[in-house]
Amino acid sequence: MENLAYVGGYLRCEGVDLRQIAELAGTPTYLYSQQSIVKRFEAMDRAFAGLPHLVCFALKANSNLAIGRVLAERGAGADIVSGGELYRALKMGIRPDRIIFAGVGKTAREIAEALEAGILLFNVESEGELLALDELAGRLGLGKRAPIALRVNPDVDPQTHPYIATGMKKYKFGIAGEQIPRLYRLAQELPNVEPLGIQMHIGSQLVRIQPIVEAVTKIVRLVEALRADGLALRYIDIGGGLGIAYRDETPEGPARLAAAIGPLIQPTGCTLLLEPGRFIVGNGGGLLTRVLYVKDNGVKKFVIVDAGMNDLIRPSLYDAYHEIRPVRETEARETVDVVGPICESGDFFAHDRPVAAVNPGDLLLIASAGAYGFAMASNYNARPRPAEVLIAGDSVRIVRRRETYEDLIRGEELS
Ligand SMILES: *Cc1c(COP(=O)(O)O)cnc(C)c1O
Repeated sequence: MENLAYVGGYLRCEGVDLRQIAELAGTPTYLYSQQSIVKRFEAMDRAFAGLPHLVCFALKANSNLAIGRVLAERGAGADIVSGGELYRALKMGIRPDRIIFAGVGKTAREIAEALEAGILLFNVESEGELLALDELAGRLGLGKRAPIALRVNPDVDPQTHPYIATGMKKYKFGIAGEQIPRLYRLAQELPNVEPLGIQMHIGSQLVRIQPIVEAVTKIVRLVEALRADGLALRYIDIGGGLGIAYRDETPEGPARLAAAIGPLIQPTGCTLLLEPGRFIVGNGGGLLTRVLYVKDNGVKKFVIVDAGMNDLIRPSLYDAYHEIRPVRETEARETVDVVGPICESGDFFAHDRPVAAVNPGDLLLIASAGAYGFAMASNYNARPRPAEVLIAGDSVRIVRRRETYEDLIRGEELS
């Protein structure tokens, strides 16, 4: 995780002592470094400066309004996957003509909302969706055709966790390459859609770029074949997926990616669209939690903290590794399981890991949890979701208050 350092024996993020955050917002609380997020966005934007391009932040990684606003102010677009994310993106101040809409199961309502907002592109994932989009766009009579890209499933192995791989034929995503020419011809014939682009997204947490380069090579070949067929596309959207360091990974970053794919994209004359999520926010966030109990059952030692799998599900869901750092600098290590309070054996943050020796009341930071952390949080076990704070230099502000018990029952009826 970025922008963390011990100063005077206590952990800081940028200029803020993490004890101060616990005092301000309680625990568990997600904290984010604005500087890290901005730096990542700008690194991505700069890497592709040699090509016409647009960086569309994948909101599903972290859709907090304040983070979105920070990115919107710097010209980011958004990659959305639902009507709710469209609503959030517009609240953040992201320009509608910088929003692209992905997902295999868009509903009629969601499509209509995005058409009315005037988004940049619909990434269409099936023939059925193409026909539905044409029909809806015609019925709404907005006086313009729905801008679309077809999502190609390039059938490459992204070499990542199977739950976050997408670009192989055994997964539900995208359209097989063989069907692509026919569907573009269909799109050209339909009166209310306008084929403008082509899209792919092969998976997430890709630490090597080679599978992306392989898929881009296939896409560029398709773009050239379509052009020979009389269809000149304007956008090539390569999705997101760039990996980050959770532990000892050495991910290839945007500069390497740009160097590898720039020469492939440039001759097409297309504008490049990018959809990074994890890369922008993953290493800029962490989950601050307090130790409740330390228990030794004779076989194992457990550190029980006040955050649970409902707050951060990645370890349970993907067996993901998150570094765990003590807020008070500590030399002594103990091999323990770090677990939450939820009634599930899958509720853990670390198994048999040497972590700092701690006592009840001590604070721990579960690091690099800025992506798919709060975004995947739930109210399981009737636990209010945590607060979120945004750090900028020496200042910290609450950008989402902790949920209350009243929040838990909003909308329910007793009889
Ligand atoms: C999830 C997703 C992304 C973002 O993936 P990251 O690995 O977070 O960069 C981008 N595009 C699509 C279509 C997605 O589903």
